[in-house]
Amino acid sequence: MSGSRSPQVLIVGAGPAGLCCAVACAVRGLKVVVLERHATMPIDKACGEGLMPDAVEVLLQLGVDPEGGEIAGIRYEGDGHTVSGSFAEGRRGLGVRRTELSKALFERALELGVEVRTGDGLVDVEQAGALSFVTTSQSGEWRPRAIVGADGSRSLVRKLAGLDQPTLTHRARRCPVRVGIRRHFRGTETQPARDRVEVFWADGVEGYLTPLANGMFGLAFLFSPTKAARQFAVASGASRGTAFEQQLRKFPELRERVAQAEPATSVRGVGPLRVASRALAAGNVALVGDAGGYIDAITGEGMAIAFAEATLLAGELADETQDAASALTRYRRTAQARRRLPNALVEGALVLSRRPGLRRRFLRSLERKPALFDSLLALHARAVPDRAVARIALELGARMALGRRA
Ligand SMILES: Cc1cc2nc3c(=O)[nH]c(=O)nc-3n(C[C@H](O)[C@H](O)[C@H](O)COP(=O)(O)OP(=O)(O)OC[C@H]3O[C@@H](n4cnc5c(N)ncnc54)[C@H](O)[C@@H]3O)c2cc1C
Repeated sequence: MSGSRSPQVLIVGAGPAGLCCAVACAVRGLKVVVLERHATMPIDKACGEGLMPDAVEVLLQLGVDPEGGEIAGIRYEGDGHTVSGSFAEGRRGLGVRRTELSKALFERALELGVEVRTGDGLVDVEQAGALSFVTTSQSGEWRPRAIVGADGSRSLVRKLAGLDQPTLTHRARRCPVRVGIRRHFRGTETQPARDRVEVFWADGVEGYLTPLANGMFGLAFLFSPTKAARQFAVASGASRGTAFEQQLRKFPELRERVAQAEPATSVRGVGPLRVASRALAAGNVALVGDAGGYIDAITGEGMAIAFAEATLLAGELADETQDAASALTRYRRTAQARRRLPNALVEGALVLSRRPGLRRRFLRSLERKPALFDSLLALHARAVPDRAVARIALELGARMALGRRA
């Protein structure tokens, strides 16, 4: 194209974060363009596909109502313990195929007049004074008021805007590289807790069984591959299939149940999972969702975080009393503070994944007091006031400490 175009908001990436941000901006009357490197919509991705209640609520408020399997809570199974927790009354999660979510968000974005340019990937972000502008593979140069990097965990926007934060090596962190794989099955009779995401714990691996619509369920594993994660990321479909079988074998009961169901998709994988950003915004560039950093999928709330950031950013950008730089500064402060609690929950869950003794005490504590599990889920879904966080953490800590002596 000749010359450059200047929409109010240019979003890179039409994943859940990018499309949700586009819809939230368009609802507020902003002129939005989305660039997506994939040639066609909808887009699929390896994911556990569980939308937590706060994520569902954001979607409904934006007029996005994807088809999914209702989720009333979470069920943990591992080390001889089974515990079930429920979301607060009136709140529900949804198990939604990524293709269905992508379709629902895309259609709503088009309905609101968002321009979604598929097959047009970002190739460069350059600085001109205080502002950045972008160049793409197909349409050339864009000089928007604000650039939103919603281009996932390998974000090019993050890198080119100087917002990459090198993560400590896994050796320095003393925690292994983690990856995720998933496959879909048809045959819900194999799922006793039909209205729960079932989480199966074993040493160094967790399995997630998520109820979806139309008699389908998804099964995802998070684990540390024996080979280097880089090799895993480029592995062929056949070796991902073998990796899936290897993980499934670690859960004999689950394997028996899955054997009665029919595979409905091939195995998809993603990894390594952990990436970080220095900040969630600088100049006229903001990051939302996985582009802003990602630790692990162990608590299954990546999309809830992405949707919360997308709507927060849209609200700041639509505020006509401030310029883009001030809007993004406010977004950066609030969004970074907002990530602290989910990040702490993820790091805590990763410790449980690596330490079987602690994990047993954790599961035993929840088994003895199921209401504590409900409180943890409320914390997870942001349904408790800040002052309750310390109380819940203290109670769990005390019960786990007592469990050591039991
Ligand atoms: C195994 C696994 C299980 C998970 N389970 C859950 C779960 O149960 N619940 C949950 O909430 N979260 C879960 N997550 C996390 C969730 O998948 C992510 O948080 C979510 O996909 C983030 O969305 P996003 O839009 O930020 O990134 P993405 O979904 O990665 O989307 C990024 C988009 O940007 C596009 N893009 C990339 N580069 C460019 C470029 N240069 N130009 C243009 N476009 C570009 C990509 O093509 C893609 O469409 C899981 C993750 C894994 C790995």
